[in-house]
Amino acid sequence: MIDAHIHLQDERFDTDRDILIRQAQKRGVIGFFCAATRPEDEKKVLELSQKHSHIVPFIGTHPWFADEYCAVSLRSHLKRFINAGIGEIGLDMLKGKNNQMSVFKDQFEVAALFKRPCVIHCVKAFDHIAALLKTTKELPPALLFHGFSGTVEQAMFLKRYNAFFSFSGAALFENKQKARILLSRLPIDKILIETDAPDMRPPDRFCANSSDKRNTPENLYLIASAFAAIKNMDTTSFINVINENAKRFLSGLKYE
Ligand SMILES: [Zn+2]
Repeated sequence: MIDAHIHLQDERFDTDRDILIRQAQKRGVIGFFCAATRPEDEKKVLELSQKHSHIVPFIGTHPWFADEYCAVSLRSHLKRFINAGIGEIGLDMLKGKNNQMSVFKDQFEVAALFKRPCVIHCVKAFDHIAALLKTTKELPPALLFHGFSGTVEQAMFLKRYNAFFSFSGAALFENKQKARILLSRLPIDKILIETDAPDMRPPDRFCANSSDKRNTPENLYLIASAFAAIKNMDTTSFINVINENAKRFLSGLKYE
C-alpha cells in the first residue's frame, strides 16, 4: 500500500527513521509520498528520496510557513528533480500566514508550469480554492486534498479537476464521524490513504506500537484495514484499488 502523505523528514524521526521505514515496508507499505512543509526541509525530503527508491518527494511551502517561502529555490529544485511533486501547499483560514494566498497561487502556477501533481492542505478554504480552479487556465495535472474534511458535494466539484482525497487514521476517532461518512460516500477510485506521520496519530488500537507517542509509518496497515471495512471491501481489494489510485495521481512522474 502507498502512504499518500507523510513527513519522514521530521526531526522526530531523526533517531530511528531507517528502522521505521523498514518496519513499514515489512507491513506492506510500498511507497511513501513524503511532503516538505517549508524551504528548510525541501532538501531533506529530496535527499531521502535519493536514498530510498520508495520515497516520492513533494516539495513546497505550507500555509503556516508562508512567510518563509522561496520561489527561486522551489523552481531550481524542480528543474533538478524531475520526479518531485509539489506539496504540501494550500490555504488554512484558521492558522495560515497573512501572505498565504499569494504563496499558494505562485506554487499552484509552478505546479501547472512544471506539470507536477500537487498535494493540497485546505482548511476552511474551499471557496477560495474553487474560485482559483474556475479562473485559472493552466492547472496542475492532478490534485490531492490530504486529510480531506469537506463535504461530498465539494469533493464532487473538485473531482472535475482530477482531484483525489486522502484520509488519515485520525478519521478513526469516535468524534470524527463526518470524515468516515465522507469516506464511505466518495467514489473508491478517488480515495487515497495516509498516515501524515509523525502527526495525526490514530486511536491506540490502530497503532502498531501504542507506547510510541508519535504516529509512525507502519500504522498504515491498521488504518487501511479499518478503512476497507468502512468501504465494505476486503483489505486486499481495497489496497489494490488504492495503489492504482496513487499511481494515477502520480501519472506523469517517474514511478515504479
Ligand atoms: Zn502533512
